[in-house]
Amino acid sequence: MAAEDDAIRDEALGWLREHWNPELRVRDWWTLLAESGWGFPSWPREWFGRGLRSEQAAAVRDAFREVGAIGPPGSLGQRLGGPTLLTHARREILEQFLPELAYGREYWCQYFSEPGAGSDLAGLQTRAVREGDEWIVNGQKVWTSGAQYADRAMLLARTDPDAPKHHGLTYFIIDMDQPGIEVRPLHQMNDAHGFNETFFTDARVGNDRIVGQLNGGWSVALTTLMYERGGGAVPSAHPGKRLAMLDMTVGEVVAGRERGEREGLGMAAITPTVIDVARELERETDPVVRQRLAQLHALEEVLRLGGLRSTSARRTGEGPGPGGSVGKIARSNLSRLTREVGMEVLGANGMLVGPTTPGGGRLQHAALSSPGSSIAGGTDEIQHNIIGERVLGLPKEPRLDADVPFRELKTGTQSRPE
Ligand SMILES: Cc1cc2nc3c(=O)[nH]c(=O)nc-3n(C[C@H](O)[C@H](O)[C@H](O)COP(=O)(O)OP(=O)(O)OC[C@H]3O[C@@H](n4cnc5c(N)ncnc54)[C@H](O)[C@@H]3O)c2cc1C
Repeated sequence: MAAEDDAIRDEALGWLREHWNPELRVRDWWTLLAESGWGFPSWPREWFGRGLRSEQAAAVRDAFREVGAIGPPGSLGQRLGGPTLLTHARREILEQFLPELAYGREYWCQYFSEPGAGSDLAGLQTRAVREGDEWIVNGQKVWTSGAQYADRAMLLARTDPDAPKHHGLTYFIIDMDQPGIEVRPLHQMNDAHGFNETFFTDARVGNDRIVGQLNGGWSVALTTLMYERGGGAVPSAHPGKRLAMLDMTVGEVVAGRERGEREGLGMAAITPTVIDVARELERETDPVVRQRLAQLHALEEVLRLGGLRSTSARRTGEGPGPGGSVGKIARSNLSRLTREVGMEVLGANGMLVGPTTPGGGRLQHAALSSPGSSIAGGTDEIQHNIIGERVLGLPKEPRLDADVPFRELKTGTQSRPE
């Protein structure tokens, strides 16, 4: 870490030690963070930040962890939406939404994936048609994390089906509380309800809610995805009106964090838990178990150092690059290895879940949740493609549909015989 980053970390530590108080309500803590700029340090000073470089922002996150303070509000709106707006949105949109995000008054979700469009996101079919000052939205989204809590959403919809698939998409901020949006839960094998499917039936969004250019949504969406692959948030409470966390004390949030992790509301580093369970089951002296624990620790450490290296490669204004895909694959590998080593350590206990099982059931839960990390935010295979094309400069995959009007493509429901 450069001396300059050390200085920033020390400054953040000083501020956090002075202001962190477990008795504070979440909304008051977030107000302090928003107004001091420490909550979103890489955002500009004008917009609740400190204009710090990304490696300096990482040093600030380390300070939060050291003090044990909860981070700024952390829905996808704050993590991905805010930086996307700062890159692409008009001033009126920044004025309207950045305060809502920074003070944690809103929770946003991300309406990108559809049943026929995940890896091939540009093939999406949810359509928005202009009517006066509004757009009328019809279609279906799926795998939407947190839609059940969301006040607004980042919506990618097709606004020009006559243009080739990447050129007819528009990025909107849509209000969730309206009759045209029906959110249905998807229950997972880990017993959590992390994501949903959503049906849009004549839902409405204003023309003034477009982020970037009309039909220019693809480049805006790429910005969102690059921030998604970057990772690195400090565990926090959930913002917005529907989760009723704003009036909890921050101390209650810290106490409830472990329970929240079990319920899929966030994942802290898990290697210490694997080591604790090995000790609890008196397996820590077994040479094979020790070797596996060392392997797990080494991978987690490599991931941490790789994260520092990629953040120090960035400079203010550049945003995260395709190198974020390397970190994303490393996190998938860590998730799989944690599942394997955790189950080896647990043995027959791995078949039990619940708070009275070794480790409080965290390893069992992590094992059941592990497949998601190699899919969410773009699958491992897609990350390999990105690294091949944009990092290593290898030839692009052949694309036959890049110049064809979307309407003529046999994709999604358009592939059905007429
Ligand atoms: C935990 C979790 C949370 C999520 N949250 C959200 C959310 O909030 N919002 C949202 O919009 N989406 C969300 N998603 C959806 C996620 O982005 C998609 O599932 C993902 O992009 C993959 O798309 P798909 O499921 O349609 O699979 P497909 O694209 O159908 O892929 C199926 C398989 O084919 C492979 N494949 C496809 N194309 C290629 C290619 N060109 N080269 C090599 N292999 C290929 C894939 O790697 C995969 O193995 C979430 C998913 C998960 C697991």
